[in-house]
Amino acid sequence: MLASLSDRIESVALRSAPKTAARVLGAIPSSALEALQRVRFRRTLQRAAERSSFYREQFRRRGIDVKRVEHPSQLGDFYTTGEDIRTHGAEAFTTGRGDTAFETTGTTSAVTKRIVFSRRELDALGCASAAALAVLGLGPDDIVLSAFDCSFWVSPAVVRTALQYIGCFHVEAGKIPPSEFYERALRYRPSIIFGEPSWIVRLSEVAGERGTWPVRFLCAGGENLTEEARRSVERAWGAPLFLSYGQTEAFGSLGLECREQHGYHRNDLHFLFEIDAADQTGQGELVYTTLTREVMPLIRYRSSDVTHLIDEPCACGLFARRIAKIHGRADEMVVCGMGNVGPWVFAELLRGVPVAGDEWQAVVTCDGRRDIIELRMECDATLNPACVRRTVLETLRSNFPDFWKNREMGLYDLRMTVSPAGTLRRERKLRRVVDQREMTTASL
Ligand SMILES: [Zn+2]
Repeated sequence: MLASLSDRIESVALRSAPKTAARVLGAIPSSALEALQRVRFRRTLQRAAERSSFYREQFRRRGIDVKRVEHPSQLGDFYTTGEDIRTHGAEAFTTGRGDTAFETTGTTSAVTKRIVFSRRELDALGCASAAALAVLGLGPDDIVLSAFDCSFWVSPAVVRTALQYIGCFHVEAGKIPPSEFYERALRYRPSIIFGEPSWIVRLSEVAGERGTWPVRFLCAGGENLTEEARRSVERAWGAPLFLSYGQTEAFGSLGLECREQHGYHRNDLHFLFEIDAADQTGQGELVYTTLTREVMPLIRYRSSDVTHLIDEPCACGLFARRIAKIHGRADEMVVCGMGNVGPWVFAELLRGVPVAGDEWQAVVTCDGRRDIIELRMECDATLNPACVRRTVLETLRSNFPDFWKNREMGLYDLRMTVSPAGTLRRERKLRRVVDQREMTTASL
């Protein structure tokens, strides 16, 4: 009864203009929302158990009777991981016919994960994203330029679909060098700019030197950003920079910041969120279950992102509850100006370098504007550091064209430090990738 009420409210909202939709969705009482989540979860679980070979086998092996499960937390220690998708392939998860796919890289391997969707799902998510962007003030009179990398990545498709609902002017630039974007943008004078955080930081440096035009806000997605770097962008434009949070596995968008910039308002209509192994402050790995996906549903998917959920109302007055700003990665993958990098990337970069005893470590810091990746390695004292640098950069250019391109665009700085044997390891296990960036402010 409650669930069908919220179902009806949602369908009315989705037929309304994006700005009205956000207001209508806000009228769903939390008890009705929870009832709707339960109905959608049970439907998803049933579908997965019947049609996905991966889930059918997992539930059978673990003796899980899906008819008795009402909430993901009742699935015990069952989770889906990125490694599961990579090992079993997208086909083992599909429960319906897909007509589009996107890909994402992971931490432990160069093999990408394929995620399959339908255009109908893309349309529904674009509609929900339009409502979220309308809350930030994006309207039909805006001129939007976006600079997301279109190669296999879901974000440009979601933004394009959302903007079609809003009906504003939109030009897709692709991820071109920020200075070229700046020159070409002058002819459009966009009121809103979309891009990856490190790319937007670089663009803002260019704009700071050559002059800005009035911008209402900037919106960044695809990686995390320090508050210091955010402020430098906002100072350059005199406009706020909002961050969105998403993963390709979740079809791009899990949440979007509001004007308060204190966490991402999350999409509880399409996802059920949990925090695994939360510490005393509620912080742990974010786990989500898709509630409306028919092509490739994911049950208790481990995001690898460490954060906490915020259920208290937000000062902006918006109904949607929040996910706090991501604190770090549960695995060793780091999303930074270089791209999505994990231990395997650096191991590959160092393949031609005689590192003593395989003792190396990558440390990510931020100088306030751009990320610095310092590759520390133990080498024989006779080794010439300039030679090491040349070898690493040659491998970067030939094997990782995307990371090379980001370096050419000035999105990060790659440094190399050679030290004597026995200096890196302080604990039993040498952590390969260390992210030392301060992502959150003390108030979060
Ligand atoms: Zn808010």
